[in-house]
Amino acid sequence: MKIRIGYISNSSSSNFIIPGTDIIGVATKMTNIVIKDWTEKRNNSPQWVKKNKARKKIWYARLQQLSLKPSVGITFPSTNYDTWMIVNEGEIYIETSHNHDWKFPNNVLQITEGFFKNQDLIKNSFYYDLDLKMEHSYIKYLDNWNKSCVYCGQCVYKYYTDKTGKIICGFCGQKETLFL
Ligand SMILES: [Zn+2]
Repeated sequence: MKIRIGYISNSSSSNFIIPGTDIIGVATKMTNIVIKDWTEKRNNSPQWVKKNKARKKIWYARLQQLSLKPSVGITFPSTNYDTWMIVNEGEIYIETSHNHDWKFPNNVLQITEGFFKNQDLIKNSFYYDLDLKMEHSYIKYLDNWNKSCVYCGQCVYKYYTDKTGKIICGFCGQKETLFL
């Protein structure tokens, strides 16, 4: 069973708008930065170098094979805040963690004041998840943080839905799970 390992989520997000439509190219660069940072955070210990290298390989392969349907974005975990990205009218809208140095070029508009003109677009879209290998909604939060997914047993605070509204565990990706 695939478990989505991330870090505890908080509201430390950054928003960017990048000109162009090469969402797969941008996602490839961003995932490389995430993996590099995560490996450094573990002091380049051999165990984590190996784990992260394997994860990078899987993400890269999925990105290379990905043919996104129109209006479907890409999501992957990043430190403290997952990354959500989607193409809209010739630009890539990105909501992501501010805990990585993304090294975007100068023509990238960064929106840091908390107001994101297309927040509804991000919140209401569906995304291909590089870890879970499936499409799902933007993240939703449970009111009760003590609940666990009946499939993976993870203490759950986040979930997604599919296009028919079915609940998906935010950790293992199991559909129609119950949280007990
Ligand atoms: Zn689960």
